[in-house]
Parts: sequence; C-alpha cells; structure tokens
Amino acid sequence: MPGRCCVPLCKGNYPTGPKVSVFSFPKNEDLKREWLSAIQRKDFSPKKSSKVCELHFKKSDFKVEASAFDSKNGILISAPLQVFITKKGVFLS
Ligand SMILES: [Zn+2]
Repeated sequence: MPGRCCVPLCKGNYPTGPKVSVFSFPKNEDLKREWLSAIQRKDFSPKKSSKVCELHFKKSDFKVEASAFDSKNGILISAPLQVFITKKGVFLS
C-alpha cells in the first residue's frame, strides 16, 4: 500500500483522497529542514515512513537521474531514479 501524504489537510492516498505518487523525506538534513518549513506542520518530525505526495511538486522540478561516486572502484555511477526527487528538494506550492 502506498504511503499517505503527511502534509496537513492533504488527502493524498487517503481512502477519500486522490491516488498519488509519494516521496520520502530527503536524508540530507538541510533539505529535510526546507521540506519541513514548507509543510508547516507543527511539532512534526518525519519518520522513515513519512511521505509527501506529488501534489506539492511541479513536474519541471523533478530530476530523474541520480549519480553517486563509488569509492571502492572509483567510478561515478549515474542511474535513473525510480523515485523522483526535486532538484532543490523543496516544495513549490
Ligand atoms: Zn499531499
């Protein structure tokens, strides 16, 4: 079952709401803080299972490829993401 959106008043993936894609919070602490300030949910700290739905992003702000440096063999790997993340990791709505 897809996760429900944690943004206040949003019904993303609730039984009475729209079916939407959801995104996990970024691991990066600075980005996470930006997301949290955008959400404006009081006294909320996201869990691993906390999700934000696509309604809070614009398509043009998704990046669809990730790259990572593999220190074991010194190769820069880039791969298409299965989950979209925003370029800045912030909400636009
Ligand atoms: Zn939502």
